[in-house]
Amino acid sequence: MKSKIYCEVCRVAFVYREEPAVGKVVICTVCGAELEITDLEPEVRVRRFPQDPETEIRNRSENYARLRDYTFNEDKELVIEGLIGKHEMYGDFYCPCRFDNIPENICPCLETRMGDVKRMGHCF
Ligand SMILES: [Zn+2]
Repeated sequence: MKSKIYCEVCRVAFVYREEPAVGKVVICTVCGAELEITDLEPEVRVRRFPQDPETEIRNRSENYARLRDYTFNEDKELVIEGLIGKHEMYGDFYCPCRFDNIPENICPCLETRMGDVKRMGHCF
């Protein structure tokens, strides 16, 4: 079984290789977001798994780091706090290190997903 799932967080479709079921929580392999399956037909659809903002961003960043084999540096808690603050003010986890609150800057930001950490040794 192979389905394509569109992630509303990173706006990319990824391949899901397990049996999908409504209510099942899957992790986006591109950004680490936790997604809950809501429909199977005509295609597998998901929504962000509902959870409190702090749990959501902590799980997403842990998942993302695990998927990419990245480790957190000493700024982790500062960045998490900044992400929670941006979520409170602007409604999503925009990078606290960046000025523009645009979809490309939702954590993990587009540059990070495109390999910035590999190139520079850390994210922006
Ligand atoms: Zn995603």
